[in-house]
Amino acid sequence: MTAEIIDGKAFAASVRARVAARVADLPRDSIVPGLAVILVGDDPASQVYVRNKRRQTIEAGMRSEEVRLGGDTPEAELLAHIARLNADPTIHGILVQLPLPAQIDTLRVLDAVDPAKDVDGFHVTNVGRLATGQPAMVPCTPLGCLMLLRDRLGSLAGREAVVVGRSNIVGKPMAQLLLRENCTVTVAHSRTADLADVCRRAEILVAAVGRPRLIRGDWIRPGATVMDVGINRVEEDGAARLVGDVDFESAVEVAGAITPVPGGVGPMTIACLLANTLTAYCRLHGLPVAAELAGA
Ligand code: NAD
Repeated sequence: MTAEIIDGKAFAASVRARVAARVADLPRDSIVPGLAVILVGDDPASQVYVRNKRRQTIEAGMRSEEVRLGGDTPEAELLAHIARLNADPTIHGILVQLPLPAQIDTLRVLDAVDPAKDVDGFHVTNVGRLATGQPAMVPCTPLGCLMLLRDRLGSLAGREAVVVGRSNIVGKPMAQLLLRENCTVTVAHSRTADLADVCRRAEILVAAVGRPRLIRGDWIRPGATVMDVGINRVEEDGAARLVGDVDFESAVEVAGAITPVPGGVGPMTIACLLANTLTAYCRLHGLPVAAELAGA
């Protein structure tokens, strides 16, 4: 058996097109949705992400504001920028690019963002709203996985789901989303005993670990749908390449469907950031929210 390869790049393009269509449909005299991205320091990977976010925001017909701060910026200065953006009626989404430099308390900064504009879904209010089944801003990467899963499987109710990884940005919100979809959810992590056995239960397997090719084909239940969130840079045969947390070559022989790395979950993250900005805009302006783009 060879798995269906889930084309996240194409699906992300369709999400961005739906967002752009909704933006284009707004009354001519209304403010367009605005997304502010704050980058502290000069981490090269973060610079690339921020550039891509800006380009795709503008392509969707939204306003993009970028705040670039030096790596030695004091926390108070960053908090002042967030306070200004919270109060700015032309800004509907605020994203603070992680990681932040060591002098800055990340949790304090994330909790300074107005929860209504928290398009990353990291504010404790949104974490709590998601966990208690209330409308929330949902973190972008798990939201992207959910959209891909719904597209392939339809209803997820009653399915056995295993999430490997329990980070605040991927693993935990992913587990909450799957629980809300009425899956039976297991969260595995670095202290899980017999990870292979736990993975073999999964009809839906989400890998968000950060360990190249940790999950092999013989850990996968035949026919399972596999979301490989991992993005790992490895040196092979003298060349740098990106690989996932799943050993694609062996997994593709067993799974029913699998996301490749790159081109699977990755492109969904920015598409969902734009979807979240639109959702935040609609909620702030009392407009109907597109349920299939909002996630929760
Ligand atoms: P993290 O380091 O915060 O968390 C990793 C989790 O994996 C932890 O909960 C840990 O318990 C678990 N873990 C570590 N080693 C393990 C092992 N040997 N067995 C089982 N569990 C183990 O990472 P994260 O931020 O959640 O990111 C995970 C991966 O997803 C990374 O490769 C990251 O680059 C990628 N990522 C991709 C996107 C995207 O596609 N847009 C977004 C975010 C993260």
